[in-house]
Amino acid sequence: MISAFPPFDAIHAVVLPVPGFGNLLTSNIYVLGTGPVTLIDTGPKFPGAFENIEKQLLGIGFGFRDIERIILTHGHIDHFGLTGKIIEAAGRPIPCHLHRDDIWRTTGEYIRHGFWSDEVLEFTRMAGMPRDAVERMKRRSAFFKNFCDPLDRVIPMDGGDTFSGTGFELRVVHTPGHSPGSCCLYEPGTRVLFSGDHIIKHITPNPIMEIHRSLLSDPGYQSLISYEASLKKIEGLDIRYAFSGHGEYIDDVPGLLSRYREHHESRKRQILHQILDIDRPISHLVQELFPDIPESEIFLAVSEIYAHLEVLIEEGRAGMSECGPPALFRASGIQSADPG
Ligand SMILES: [Zn+2]
Repeated sequence: MISAFPPFDAIHAVVLPVPGFGNLLTSNIYVLGTGPVTLIDTGPKFPGAFENIEKQLLGIGFGFRDIERIILTHGHIDHFGLTGKIIEAAGRPIPCHLHRDDIWRTTGEYIRHGFWSDEVLEFTRMAGMPRDAVERMKRRSAFFKNFCDPLDRVIPMDGGDTFSGTGFELRVVHTPGHSPGSCCLYEPGTRVLFSGDHIIKHITPNPIMEIHRSLLSDPGYQSLISYEASLKKIEGLDIRYAFSGHGEYIDDVPGLLSRYREHHESRKRQILHQILDIDRPISHLVQELFPDIPESEIFLAVSEIYAHLEVLIEEGRAGMSECGPPALFRASGIQSADPG
């Protein structure tokens, strides 16, 4: 059970338990305004989730028909999955906003293909993943189709956009990293930051490497480099509480940010240690750094290592010695052998 969210007149948290989905603990949806209301995220289409939201909305005096606007923090299924069903229940079109760099993830075409493409396959070869592991990953990826409905009409939003309603004023802060279109929403009156999956109290969010870079406004996008720049963006805000997409609220944002930075530095040192004086593919690094990882999370591990390698290459501390497949990586110059 997670602690109750601090009470505000015009902000309510709808907290959905998500048992069986790693360490997410809960998926959080936020309801803003005193009516009509704005929803921030809509949760995954897990069995029972829709009914749970309906019940919690009723508990704070609202129904789906009171929703006038939906804002999605990013385009992952656990954040947009129920949007279509909620709009259907409202009985009329509700404007739904999402950053332009994540809209393609919510389309029927992408979801129909089971979140899979030739580019993903090519990447798994580059990483040196065994063929049977790739097959299982493909099947698992297709399974996620069950937890969302595609979105037909989404209004692109950008950093700096504002949304207001009775009792709140939101400013969009584009914080790419967890996904290219990830956004936080800042409410200056209460000094609350709705942080999506950019910062989460009990998890260091994975800056998931982006394979489909040609679809982005910046095709040179690199997830961890963007993520670190996005941490700086929220560091500049006066935040009393951060309300994230999963788990408990955060009341010490600076402390959390420094823990994240330590984690990234330590991971970089571990990776460098593994490629000191030896050329290695990403799949070997996964075995060394995550020996007990469940198969369902292998892609996240590959992605985490790749994102850190991109930073190490940018910093001149590592290089790609063979472009493969599989690609081989090696530390460059004099490195500390301390794995941290
Ligand atoms: Zn999430």
